[in-house]
Amino acid sequence: MAKDTCDGCGEQVKIAGGIANLWTLDSDSTGGMTLKFDADGTEHFLCFECIERLPDDPSEEDVAALRNE
Ligand SMILES: [Zn+2]
Repeated sequence: MAKDTCDGCGEQVKIAGGIANLWTLDSDSTGGMTLKFDADGTEHFLCFECIERLPDDPSEEDVAALRNE
């Protein structure tokens, strides 16, 4: 089990990774996902709580706003 840091709240988030999770990829083993913004090519790893707080069409500014709360 790997961990990554949420770009929004700074929490350590479990992420599924490696062969062990290949066949059991479910929401219990993964706490977030990486969002990629095509506009500037940046990527942000966010936990699902932060993703839920983003608008439907999030931008780089929306991710930055999460950090400031
Ligand atoms: Zn978060």
